[in-house]
Amino acid sequence: MQKISVPGRCRCGRVRFVLGEEPIAFYLCHCTDCQAESGSAFGQSMAVRAEAIQSVEGPTREHTIEHEGERRSFVTHCTNCLTMLWGYGPELPQIRGLNAGGLDASLGLAPYGNMWTRSAQPWVRFAPGPCFEQQPDDRLAMVKAWAERPNDD
Ligand SMILES: [Zn+2]
Ligand SMILES: [Zn+2]
Repeated sequence: MQKISVPGRCRCGRVRFVLGEEPIAFYLCHCTDCQAESGSAFGQSMAVRAEAIQSVEGPTREHTIEHEGERRSFVTHCTNCLTMLWGYGPELPQIRGLNAGGLDASLGLAPYGNMWTRSAQPWVRFAPGPCFEQQPDDRLAMVKAWAERPNDD
Protein backbone atom coordinates (compact mmCIF):
# COMPACT_ATOMS: atom_id res chain seq x y z
CA MET A 1 0.00 0.00 0.00
CA GLN A 2 1.40 3.38 -1.10
CA LYS A 3 2.27 5.53 1.94
CA ILE A 4 1.14 9.17 2.00
CA SER A 5 0.68 11.76 4.73
CA VAL A 6 -2.33 14.00 4.17
CA PRO A 7 -3.86 15.88 7.13
CA GLY A 8 -7.59 15.92 7.59
CA ARG A 9 -10.01 17.56 9.98
CA CYS A 10 -13.61 18.18 10.92
CA ARG A 11 -15.31 21.49 10.11
CA CYS A 12 -14.51 23.09 13.51
CA GLY A 13 -10.93 21.83 13.45
CA ARG A 14 -10.93 20.18 16.91
CA VAL A 15 -10.61 16.73 15.40
CA ARG A 16 -7.50 16.14 13.35
CA PHE A 17 -6.12 13.04 11.75
CA VAL A 18 -3.65 11.95 9.12
CA LEU A 19 -4.45 9.79 6.12
CA GLY A 20 -1.37 7.59 5.94
CA GLU A 21 -2.14 5.46 2.87
CA GLU A 22 -3.56 5.95 -0.59
CA PRO A 23 -7.29 5.15 -0.83
CA ILE A 24 -8.34 1.75 -2.16
CA ALA A 25 -11.46 3.16 -3.88
CA PHE A 26 -13.00 6.56 -4.58
CA TYR A 27 -16.50 6.69 -6.04
CA LEU A 28 -19.77 8.57 -5.90
CA CYS A 29 -22.69 7.22 -3.89
CA HIS A 30 -26.08 8.57 -4.98
CA CYS A 31 -28.09 6.90 -2.19
CA THR A 32 -30.61 8.97 -0.29
CA ASP A 33 -28.62 8.53 2.96
CA CYS A 34 -25.58 10.16 1.38
CA GLN A 35 -27.74 12.92 -0.07
CA ALA A 36 -29.25 13.62 3.37
CA GLU A 37 -25.92 13.42 5.21
CA SER A 38 -23.97 15.59 2.79
CA GLY A 39 -26.73 18.06 1.96
CA SER A 40 -25.66 17.51 -1.63
CA ALA A 41 -26.62 15.30 -4.57
CA PHE A 42 -24.19 12.49 -3.72
CA GLY A 43 -21.55 11.39 -1.24
CA GLN A 44 -17.89 11.25 -2.20
CA SER A 45 -16.99 7.83 -0.86
CA MET A 46 -13.30 7.33 -0.31
CA ALA A 47 -12.49 3.85 0.93
CA VAL A 48 -9.32 3.40 2.95
CA ARG A 49 -7.97 0.59 5.08
CA ALA A 50 -8.87 1.14 8.76
CA GLU A 51 -5.19 1.49 9.70
CA ALA A 52 -4.74 4.27 7.13
CA ILE A 53 -6.52 6.69 9.50
CA GLN A 54 -3.76 7.69 11.90
CA SER A 55 -2.87 10.18 14.65
CA VAL A 56 -6.52 10.90 15.52
CA GLU A 57 -6.79 13.77 18.02
CA GLY A 58 -9.82 15.56 19.42
CA PRO A 59 -13.33 14.72 20.55
CA THR A 60 -14.88 11.90 18.51
CA ARG A 61 -17.81 9.61 19.12
CA GLU A 62 -19.02 6.59 17.20
CA HIS A 63 -22.74 6.31 16.55
CA THR A 64 -24.75 3.42 15.19
CA ILE A 65 -27.02 4.43 12.31
CA GLU A 66 -30.04 2.24 11.58
CA HIS A 67 -31.00 2.27 7.91
CA GLU A 68 -34.18 0.99 6.34
CA GLY A 69 -34.40 -2.77 6.62
CA GLU A 70 -31.79 -4.56 8.71
CA ARG A 71 -28.88 -2.49 7.52
CA ARG A 72 -26.78 -0.52 10.00
CA SER A 73 -23.50 1.30 9.94
CA PHE A 74 -21.11 2.81 12.45
CA VAL A 75 -20.19 6.42 11.93
CA THR A 76 -17.63 8.58 13.75
CA HIS A 77 -18.43 12.26 14.25
CA CYS A 78 -16.75 15.22 15.92
CA THR A 79 -18.71 15.73 19.16
CA ASN A 80 -18.40 19.51 18.82
CA CYS A 81 -19.38 20.30 15.22
CA LEU A 82 -20.98 16.89 14.39
CA THR A 83 -19.09 16.58 11.10
CA MET A 84 -19.08 13.00 9.90
CA LEU A 85 -15.45 11.88 9.67
CA TRP A 86 -15.61 8.22 8.62
CA GLY A 87 -17.82 5.19 8.89
CA TYR A 88 -18.01 1.50 8.17
CA GLY A 89 -20.47 -1.33 7.80
CA PRO A 90 -20.41 -4.62 9.72
CA GLU A 91 -19.74 -6.53 6.47
CA LEU A 92 -16.37 -4.85 5.94
CA PRO A 93 -15.06 -3.71 9.34
CA GLN A 94 -11.49 -3.45 8.01
CA ILE A 95 -12.44 -0.72 5.51
CA ARG A 96 -13.47 2.85 6.37
CA GLY A 97 -15.51 5.17 4.19
CA LEU A 98 -13.72 8.48 4.69
CA ASN A 99 -15.38 11.87 4.27
CA ALA A 100 -13.09 12.97 1.43
CA GLY A 101 -14.09 16.63 1.84
CA GLY A 102 -12.33 16.72 5.21
CA LEU A 103 -8.86 16.24 3.78
CA ASP A 104 -6.75 19.41 3.86
CA ALA A 105 -5.12 18.78 0.51
CA SER A 106 -6.63 17.39 -2.63
CA LEU A 107 -5.12 14.02 -3.43
CA GLY A 108 -5.42 14.83 -7.12
CA LEU A 109 -7.75 11.89 -7.56
CA ALA A 110 -11.00 11.89 -9.51
CA PRO A 111 -13.78 9.54 -8.44
CA TYR A 112 -14.27 6.37 -10.46
CA GLY A 113 -17.59 4.53 -10.29
CA ASN A 114 -21.12 5.25 -9.10
CA MET A 115 -23.51 3.38 -6.88
CA TRP A 116 -27.22 3.78 -6.13
CA THR A 117 -27.72 5.41 -9.53
CA ARG A 118 -31.46 4.65 -9.29
CA SER A 119 -31.82 7.41 -6.68
CA ALA A 120 -29.45 9.85 -8.40
CA GLN A 121 -30.66 13.40 -8.98
CA PRO A 122 -31.77 13.71 -12.61
CA TRP A 123 -29.26 16.48 -13.45
CA VAL A 124 -26.21 14.63 -12.15
CA ARG A 125 -23.46 13.57 -14.55
CA PHE A 126 -22.01 10.28 -13.42
CA ALA A 127 -18.30 9.82 -12.80
CA PRO A 128 -16.49 7.51 -15.24
CA GLY A 129 -16.36 3.83 -14.36
CA PRO A 130 -19.03 1.31 -13.45
CA CYS A 131 -22.60 2.30 -12.52
CA PHE A 132 -24.57 0.15 -10.10
CA GLU A 133 -28.28 0.75 -9.59
CA GLN A 134 -27.96 -0.16 -5.93
CA GLN A 135 -25.25 -1.48 -3.61
CA PRO A 136 -23.49 -4.19 -5.65
CA ASP A 137 -23.74 -7.71 -4.23
CA ASP A 138 -19.95 -7.88 -4.29
CA ARG A 139 -19.01 -5.51 -1.49
CA LEU A 140 -15.54 -5.13 -2.96
CA ALA A 141 -16.77 -4.24 -6.46
CA MET A 142 -15.63 -0.61 -6.16
CA VAL A 143 -12.25 -1.63 -4.73
CA LYS A 144 -11.70 -3.93 -7.70
CA ALA A 145 -12.89 -1.29 -10.17
CA TRP A 146 -10.50 1.27 -8.66
CA ALA A 147 -7.55 -1.11 -8.92
CA GLU A 148 -8.36 -1.82 -12.58
CA ARG A 149 -9.23 1.71 -13.66
CA PRO A 150 -7.46 3.03 -16.73
CA ASN A 151 -4.68 5.55 -16.24
CA ASP A 152 -5.87 8.97 -17.32
CA ASP A 153 -2.51 10.09 -18.73
ZN1 LIG B 1 -15.47 19.46 14.84
ZN1 LIG C 1 -24.57 6.41 0.01
